[in-house]
Amino acid sequence: MIIGVLALQGDVREHLNALAECDVVARPVRRPEELDSVDALVIPGGESTTMSKLAIEFGVLEPLRKRVAGGMPVYGSCAGMIMLATDVVDGRPDQQTLAGIDMVVRRNAFGRQVDSFEGPVEIAGIDGGPFHAVFIRAPWVESVAADVEVLGRVTEGPAAGRIVAVRQRNLLATAFHPELTGDLRVHRFFVEMARAAETTEG
Ligand code: GLN
Repeated sequence: MIIGVLALQGDVREHLNALAECDVVARPVRRPEELDSVDALVIPGGESTTMSKLAIEFGVLEPLRKRVAGGMPVYGSCAGMIMLATDVVDGRPDQQTLAGIDMVVRRNAFGRQVDSFEGPVEIAGIDGGPFHAVFIRAPWVESVAADVEVLGRVTEGPAAGRIVAVRQRNLLATAFHPELTGDLRVHRFFVEMARAAETTEG
């Protein structure tokens, strides 16, 4: 199992390290050939507009869209969540996404003054207690289509009730950054999703 990390911009190294600890081969992906060589992909946090521009420059946006539409397992964190969404509120006019998860996300949703916010988030399907979720200029999910599973919501503070973790088919997204806290449970969950997809595809 080879899992790529989209390495155009953002906290790539933290995801590569987290994946390596989950006993998979993890490698950076920038170019279409590199994308062809991976079974699954993580899209890191960073800045989604810049990431989408660089994806166009590296010629990897369309190949990414094709792989996503073709069922490749993808996990997007923060800016990666925005990249996976079909619809973005408060996006830049030139913002491109991979239109994978049928949801509306709001960029920088936690408020312009509040750059970061931390709090407990319980994720359905992941045991071991709530995550210490770190949100950095993070999006939240405004709404999802009927076949998108809501896995987690903020439980405390002014954003309580907001959706911050979702899954649709082989696509997983969180508004927070598990790669920054040393808690590997989301990465392990994603690796299991990718292994299950591999088995089903035969
Ligand atoms: N605010 C960023 C964006 O719009 C996301 C922030 C992050 O990934 N930490 O893309």
